[in-house]
Amino acid sequence: MATAPRLAVVWDERFRAYDFGPDHPFSERSRALAVRLLRELPAASGGAIEWVDAVEPASWATLETFHRRKFLSFVASVSAAEAPSLLDAGDTPGFPGCFEAAGRIVAGADRALELVLTRGLPAFHPAGGLHHAHPDRASGFCIFNDVAIAVGRAVREGRRVAYLDIDAHHGDGVMYGYYQSGRVLDIDFHQDGRTLFPGTGFPPETGRGDGAGLKVNVPLPPAAGDSALLPLFRRIVPALLREFRPEVIVLQHGVDGHVGDALAQLQYTPAAYEEIDRTVLALAEEVAGGRLVVTGGGGYRAASVSRVLARAGAVLAGDGPLEGEGRLPEAWRREFGNATGETAPASWRQNPAPSVSSWTPEHEATLVRELEAELGRRFPPAV
Ligand SMILES: [Zn+2]
Repeated sequence: MATAPRLAVVWDERFRAYDFGPDHPFSERSRALAVRLLRELPAASGGAIEWVDAVEPASWATLETFHRRKFLSFVASVSAAEAPSLLDAGDTPGFPGCFEAAGRIVAGADRALELVLTRGLPAFHPAGGLHHAHPDRASGFCIFNDVAIAVGRAVREGRRVAYLDIDAHHGDGVMYGYYQSGRVLDIDFHQDGRTLFPGTGFPPETGRGDGAGLKVNVPLPPAAGDSALLPLFRRIVPALLREFRPEVIVLQHGVDGHVGDALAQLQYTPAAYEEIDRTVLALAEEVAGGRLVVTGGGGYRAASVSRVLARAGAVLAGDGPLEGEGRLPEAWRREFGNATGETAPASWRQNPAPSVSSWTPEHEATLVRELEAELGRRFPPAV
């Protein structure tokens, strides 16, 4: 029997047009493989997922809610050029049609937010999470900032928003975009900016004006692993969300913290992502009326990105814990091989082993003390 949908998934095959070329690390191909895998999972049967698959590019008016007109004109001109130039200092090349491709991903986030606001249905936008783009410039593979635009719309509609970011890189475009906003709580776990792009996101960056005390940066050293991330997440996130009482939660679910990632070194495992997904879903129910938008983000190893994002979708749609070894569907494995030229993982559990973390309870205590001093509050250990 068909059930009422528990999750909306926004995926238009045209999101794949956000493509910097075969030699560039960012590719929507991994997100497409995530969606293909999600469609094969128990969560996708019986009507638990509502698929949103026709997304037209965002209007200039929507883009202008975050980006400056001069920057939009620049991207439009690069997009239409025969030999597109770089969009930033080096990481983000232009390509023909890049304006529309980036605008379609913005529209995906906008649709996700709309579903969340009008239906109270959690929504998942795996192609999105382009958190580095600034009002006046592209940055770090991000042309337009789809998550910042969705956060802004929720704020304009009078909602308080909690933005959580677990991407390996600091979500600078979103944090600085709402640095002075008292309506946006921003909590960002990322690899220490002294060791990774974009080089920002330190505990003293706590917001300004109405936003003072609402920007929470949790930098972790390379190889930190689950033993650093999870105790800090349990200690910090539920306490802040229960206090702030957001009306919408936006989770930027980058997967580049995963062990084996090509660009970052945090060494998280799938178990950490799954705990975070279940925790955030429960907190969204508890404090935000179930209003939760989850986007993708970074992630530069197809085997990790595809499986972790598919699993996130399944968890959000109500699937229980994985049992046994968890073999992956053969049809999906073939498709993975064809798309990536790599051998597909055989099971959910086949992953590189993380190296030993040097993180200790003393490191946690030191970081928590620093956050407490900067934010002027306490974070008692989670019980
Ligand atoms: Zn990233």
